[in-house]
Order: sequence, then structure tokens, then C-alpha cells
Amino acid sequence: MFNTLSDRITGSFKSLRSKGRLSASDVEETISQIRRALLDADVALPVVRSFTAAVREKATGAVASKALNPGQQVVKIVNDELVEILGGETRELDLSRRPAVIMLAGLQGAGKTTLAGKLGRWLRTERNRKVLLVASDLQRPNAVNQLQVVGGQAGVDVWAPEPGNGVGDPVAVARSGLARAEEYGYDVVVVDTAGRLGIDEEMMRQAIDIRAAVNPNEVLFVIDAMIGQDAVATANAFQDGVGFTGVVVSKLDGDTRGGAALSVRGVTGVPIMFASTGEKLTDFEQFHADRMASRILDMGDVLTLIEQAERTWDEQQQAELAEKMSEGSFTLDDFLVQMRQLKRMGSMKKIMGMLPGMGQYREALEAFDESSVGRIEAIVQSMTPAERTDVKILNGSRRQRIARGSGTTVQEINSLVERFEQARKMMQQVSRGGGVPGMPGMGG
Ligand code: GDP
Repeated sequence: MFNTLSDRITGSFKSLRSKGRLSASDVEETISQIRRALLDADVALPVVRSFTAAVREKATGAVASKALNPGQQVVKIVNDELVEILGGETRELDLSRRPAVIMLAGLQGAGKTTLAGKLGRWLRTERNRKVLLVASDLQRPNAVNQLQVVGGQAGVDVWAPEPGNGVGDPVAVARSGLARAEEYGYDVVVVDTAGRLGIDEEMMRQAIDIRAAVNPNEVLFVIDAMIGQDAVATANAFQDGVGFTGVVVSKLDGDTRGGAALSVRGVTGVPIMFASTGEKLTDFEQFHADRMASRILDMGDVLTLIEQAERTWDEQQQAELAEKMSEGSFTLDDFLVQMRQLKRMGSMKKIMGMLPGMGQYREALEAFDESSVGRIEAIVQSMTPAERTDVKILNGSRRQRIARGSGTTVQEINSLVERFEQARKMMQQVSRGGGVPGMPGMGG
């Protein structure tokens, strides 16, 4: 799902991640790479334009701010904009009437009949509703039978015209299905309708007539993710014709370029509500813009961590620490404060991985024992103020005294001092935007 797009966008971040500072041209370069990736993924041009404009505006501001590393800020901005074009908050189905009516519309082969089964199953199992599927697709020879099969798999009832009963009138079937549902106390009616391979007037008129007959709570427009640049024209035609209240993107499991999914909301303003990700009835999920954006950006926990950082960060304290770091007057006390702050955000290793220029210190980070903050605290507290300020005075006998006082070993103290020195160099380098470690000015 979105593999190529994902690789290309995340690829465009690589150069940002390794930088402590960003210039306007770094941002421009990233934006231009993202723009090409989106266009190649068949995302509609107007959507790409508004996306890149929003990212540019916010990224420029982020580069000027100093709260967190600007490369990560840009990643977060891209993520937030992706969430935005994908539709923001997930909208729930309107099931307010009884029976609530959900009508499906879309081109032939988009996946409507399959969706009827998926939705039926989902409504039954996840929403505890009694569902009736109504076969108003009388165009495609096998559609009625197919709906009966998926209805059986979904464990929900199906209303269909008697076989051999002539061609039938889909509007009449929809109407009688609704009457049936009212009579037998169904909670939700899902009306499957006919599609054509292309958009044509007759099909659209039929859909409009069905809509008028059953007055649905929701009209879900089903669109095949593989449709590419045709997505926009198709979506617009359905929006102008029958109109729809929600979008379902099907076949997101394929190695699709994903443009349809990223364009439809932007072009029509109607949110994507569900994603279909395979032929099985369980290959179906509510669409969450934020999770989809995370998948596209291959971000996993990192965004959560950035958000946690924003929540838990004490700006004032950080500003003081940052100044000490760049001055080289960073002490073990500060180290402890820093570690406690990071600890509040979660795993040290994950957090460290977000920082710029960390690659060269990865081994030291990997060796970090997450549970050691308590022991470090004990060690630091067993030191005199002078020792905390200048670890260079820590000779053998001082180390033995501290080990006894803190209930640790001399080895632990040695390793803490070593790590502290490493961290101090690293922080100083990072805060200077990638300068050379070991520059003059270090030490108290
Ligand atoms: P309809 O003409 O709109 O009713 O489309 P169908 O429901 O008959 O689906 C057309 C074809 O696409 C069928 O072979 C389905 O099995 C397949 N299909 C539907 N949804 C998905 C999906 O999410 N992923 C994949 N891989 N195939 C799907």
C-alpha cells in the first residue's frame, strides 16, 4: 500500500534528518521531491499544489523556531498536511434512523458488491446492527447472486428479486427492500446499485432515482484505488450526479500508487470513511487519516514521540540546558535533568534516534540501559558539587567513595563518566549545528 510513494517521501527526509539546521533551500528541495512523488503517485494537481503550499508556509516558520530539531519539524508538518488532505478526523456512519439506509454508488468493478458484504459484516459484528443487503444492481448478470453469496458469508440477510422474474426494476427493488426492513425491524439497509465501466447518463439517472426512492442517510461512493488520474473526473461526475456523503477507497491492498485515495477528499471535500484492502470480507477498515499518513511516511512511533516531546518538554529548562551545552558548561546535574525529561517521553533509544547526527553514536546509545536512570541518580547524588561540575577531578579514591555511597560499583561510575563525556561532546556538537567535537571551551 503506497509503497513507492512512501519510499520516495521518506527518502526526501533523509537529507533533512542529518542536519542540525535547515536553510530555505533545504526545505525547497524536500518540497520539490515530495511534489514529484505525489504527482507520480497520480495525486491530482490541485491537491498537490495546495499540499506543497501549506507545507512550504509552515516549514518556513519551523525553520525559524528552535523548540525541536527543524528536520523533524518538517517531517511533522508533512505528516499533518497529509492527515489534512486525507480528511482529518474519522467520520462515523450516520445510522440515526431506523432503518438507516446506506446506498452504494460507483463504477462497475469498483468493489460495491464486495463492500456490501464487508459493511454488512462490520455493522453486524462491530456495531451490533441487524442488517439487510438489497440487490439493486440488476445490470451485471451475476451481481444478485454475488450479493447473496457475500451476504451469506457476512451472516446478514439479502433482499433480491426472485430469479427468473424478468429483468426487474432496481428502484422498485430498493423500495421494496426498505419496506421489508421496516416491517421486519432491521437496523440498517445497504443498497447495492449498478455501475458501468464508464460514467453514463442512464446509470446516473438510475442512481438518482434510487436515492430519491430510499432517501439514504449515507451515499457511499466506492472508488478503486488503482484508477489513477481518472479518480478526479469519476468522483466529480458522481458528486455532480447522484451526490455522495462518504467515500470508500477499495483495492488499497494492491501495489497501487494511491493517488485516488489522496485526491478524492481534496477534490470533492467528502471524507474517506472506509478502506477496502482485499477480497475477503475482513479486509476492511475504518479509514483513519492519521494512521494512513503514518503508513505513507513510514513513521510508526516517531510522530507520537515528537508529540510527546511537545507535551512533556519544559521549554524554559530546555533553553537553559541548550545554552549550557553550547557553552560546554553542561554538568552531571544537567545530564540528570536531561535524562529525567527524556525518560518522561518514553524509551531513550527511540528518542535518541530522532535526534540529528546520531548515527555515529548509535553504538553508545544501543548500550544504554533504560532502567539505569535510578542508578545514575544515586551516583550523581553521592558526588560533591565540585565533582558534579567537573568530572575530571574524579580520581580512583573519589570513585570508590561514590560507589560505596550509591551502592553501585566503580565500573558503573567509570561507564557513567565515560558516557557523560560522550554525551556532552555529542550535545555540544549537535547544538552547534554539526561542529567538530572536542573544540576548545569544554569543561568547567
Ligand atoms: P462492483 O462491480 O462494484 O460490485 O465490484 P465487485 O464488488 O464485484 O468487485 C470487483 C472485483 O474486485 C471483484 O473481483 C472483487 O473480488 C474485487 N475486489 C473488491 N474489493 C477489493 C479489494 O479491496 N481488494 C482487492 N484486491 N480486490 C477487491
